[in-house]
Amino acid sequence: MQNDEYKFETKALHAGIEPDKATGAIMTPIYQTTTYAQSSPGVHKGYEYSRTQNPTRHVLEKNLSALENGKHGLAFGSGLAAIDACMRLLKPGAEIISTNDLYGGTYRLFTKVHEQYGLKFRFAGMQNVADVEPLINANTKMLWLETPTNPTMNIIDIEAFANLAKKHHLLLVVDNTFASPYLQNPLDLGADIVMHSVTKYIAGHSDVVMGFLALNDDELRNDLAFIQNSVGAVCGPMDSFLALRGIKTLHLRMQRHCENGEKVAHWLKAHPYVDKVYWPGFESHPNHDVAKKQMRGFGGMISFSLKGDKLDDAFNLVSRLRVFTLAESLGGVESLAGHPATMTHAALPKAEREKNGVTDSLIRLSVGVEHIDDLIHDLKNAMS
Ligand SMILES: *Cc1c(COP(=O)(O)O)cnc(C)c1O
Repeated sequence: MQNDEYKFETKALHAGIEPDKATGAIMTPIYQTTTYAQSSPGVHKGYEYSRTQNPTRHVLEKNLSALENGKHGLAFGSGLAAIDACMRLLKPGAEIISTNDLYGGTYRLFTKVHEQYGLKFRFAGMQNVADVEPLINANTKMLWLETPTNPTMNIIDIEAFANLAKKHHLLLVVDNTFASPYLQNPLDLGADIVMHSVTKYIAGHSDVVMGFLALNDDELRNDLAFIQNSVGAVCGPMDSFLALRGIKTLHLRMQRHCENGEKVAHWLKAHPYVDKVYWPGFESHPNHDVAKKQMRGFGGMISFSLKGDKLDDAFNLVSRLRVFTLAESLGGVESLAGHPATMTHAALPKAEREKNGVTDSLIRLSVGVEHIDDLIHDLKNAMS
């Protein structure tokens, strides 16, 4: 099917997917093979060795790139492997300007791994383009942004940064994990590469670790495919199948994540023990207008802090939850709760994390697709 003829929901089920030519199987077969027969040396059906190409992975790449309105897609062994491939596009001495409240694993990869090889990272608040432009110099090659950010749900104006990137001939990469392609499509807003941790909303069932890059430029695609094949950070056929299976319900899940998220956010905001609630759907959110402009919904990620900001109160609350499970990660069908100060952001010094709103009582929720009454009841019970 031609991708641009169909709506998201139809593409999720059909883009890049055809009944198996050999058997008519409706579901993409799991091509659990490393190698492929050649009729004479170098003559084959487009597949030689599964690090380079695998038919199940190939279908996933076609399907998921269509959901991001991208011409090309590359699936990786994890979100971080996909980010790593982007960094390998750059040469020592290159500078990258990145969001300051970045996903912790990305921050670690940038500062502990790639700085060793001569890349230089500058971290900035990206609420205003005007604050970032002065950081650009002759060595700057890439802007890296994440929106909404974790855990305080800051929103960054992708289109404004795409204009800045074009003006200075920089690559713009957007980590779109928190929004998913259902809520936000950075390539349409001018980004060069969109990156996903498929592990979260896209696969959606907390059973696959995977990363993805979608893009339009042919040359950039060839460079990234070369890096991917040379480094070898690919995902396997079974995981590709599971991701494809998850994607078929991405739109349905995201609709419910958004509905439940909205109700939980409003319930929390009205609760007497709750201090701040971070959710981009509130009109009082500092970048609500940008969120409304570039997102189709506000998602199911919410953080909140408690009055008095006591660590013990937060610990008591999360340990009394029964429907929400205390765990890292996000984006699965089941609701999860996390305590950023001691879990995802534990490596940061207290003063540093508090600057970004990660106070002692901050709790992050990944609101799942359970019945809303049970979720609210669970929170009510834990707070009483
Ligand atoms: C989880 C996550 C990553 C890393 O992805 P993995 O699949 O865990 O390697 C990157 N960015 C964001 C925003 C994430 O939530």
